[in-house]
Amino acid sequence: MLEHVGDPHQWRYTWQIKDDVSLDSTCSFCGRNALRVTYEVTRGTEVAWVCEHCVARYNISADIDGEPLGPKEARAYAHGLTARLKQQTCKDIIRRIQDQLVDADLEPVAVYFDRNLQLSPHWAAKLFMTLVQIGEETKAQVFEVQTRSKIHQREFGDLDDRERGLVWIALSPQQRRRLASLGFAPLGALVRRSLSVRVPRI
Ligand SMILES: [Zn+2]
Repeated sequence: MLEHVGDPHQWRYTWQIKDDVSLDSTCSFCGRNALRVTYEVTRGTEVAWVCEHCVARYNISADIDGEPLGPKEARAYAHGLTARLKQQTCKDIIRRIQDQLVDADLEPVAVYFDRNLQLSPHWAAKLFMTLVQIGEETKAQVFEVQTRSKIHQREFGDLDDRERGLVWIALSPQQRRRLASLGFAPLGALVRRSLSVRVPRI
């Protein structure tokens, strides 16, 4: 916690949330950077943007239309707004590609996303190939890809290496480890192992 912040409870949510798909935002409370989602809070005329960790950790004042919210309700409300905002970001990206690449048949991708709010490996690969075409493949990390079920794992394994490499961008370290353990890591992909560090005895 940075010193100028003081008591978090003196700050209040405005319920403005920012979804920074370039992952370039910084938290004014704890100083974390390279963040995607931040939340606007105010104290008098001061304005700050705080990260999800700080939302989870500190009891920032909250109300809706003047009705105060308890800490749990405030977190639940922030969580709901965040989920909706992330969904909107994904939909906007799909729509923008459709506008730019009229030949790209992304309607099934859009339908799948609307229904599941995530992408299967197959549809993720199709969408991410179009992101490459417009030079925006880093936006792939905004999407969540389903890899929990055997069917989706198999679907990932059936992609060609280039497609796997693209979908890989959107996967969490846990997802990558799991797929790598099944032998599905794309060529050249780095999989971080959990290091067991041995301290030498002197
Ligand atoms: Zn923070």
